[in-house]
Amino acid sequence: MKELEQVEEVIGAVCAKSGRDRSEVRIVAVTKTHGPEVVEEARSAGLLTVGENKVQEAMWKKPLCDSRLSWHLIGHLQTNKVRHALATFDYFHSIDSAKLLDKIEAVSEEMGLCPQILLEVNVSGEKSKSGMKPEEVPFVLEHAMAQCPRIDVQGFMTMAPFSMDPEASRPYFRRLKELQIQMRKVSGLYLPELSMGMSGDYGVAVEEGATFVRLGTVLFGSRPKAKRQVMSDDTGFEVCKVVD
Ligand SMILES: *Cc1c(COP(=O)(O)O)cnc(C)c1O
Repeated sequence: MKELEQVEEVIGAVCAKSGRDRSEVRIVAVTKTHGPEVVEEARSAGLLTVGENKVQEAMWKKPLCDSRLSWHLIGHLQTNKVRHALATFDYFHSIDSAKLLDKIEAVSEEMGLCPQILLEVNVSGEKSKSGMKPEEVPFVLEHAMAQCPRIDVQGFMTMAPFSMDPEASRPYFRRLKELQIQMRKVSGLYLPELSMGMSGDYGVAVEEGATFVRLGTVLFGSRPKAKRQVMSDDTGFEVCKVVD
């Protein structure tokens, strides 16, 4: 997959320049709106972590894909979908409230799970973005530590505002890194992960300390305008198939 080779060149060069080891950075292959054939393309190129932003779409896609893949939720999670999300995903990048933590904790207890999560922070303050405010992070982290023994908080995630200029993202990534350092001190948790950087700005993100980059377009080209066909599973939950 030549797109992946190009991405590897960029990540390798940035790691060399900033004194980081390539193994510190993992690629999440964002396959949203693509079909299982694109997931298979990623897998055969060695990308074993896929990112999806919708629970229903992943529920349709996952059974059609190689069972060795790890599925990461990168989109907003509603409390009414927590049960299905926990059954589908291995890792959660976008947890953004104490209320959502409580729901995840309760369902994890029932299902016997200990999910790994990241707290999503809206560093830019853009209204259109999900994520908690930076000033809410200490409270939410404290809540997780005190009330949610099953939840393993691994670090933080953010999305920079859209821009054609990757440099425009740098202050937001830097801010998330600072928040990580601060929160490690305050909480005593290790909090090693920073999920930041997408197709347009992953080089800058790696320079600023990203441990996960979430890449769709740069690997798979522009996304098909998804037409979703809604089906229901046997519990009446809606599952969305992507159709051409
Ligand atoms: C779609 C999406 C991405 C990938 O975006 P690209 O620009 O195509 O790489 C990354 N993160 C999140 C949260 C997304 O929804």
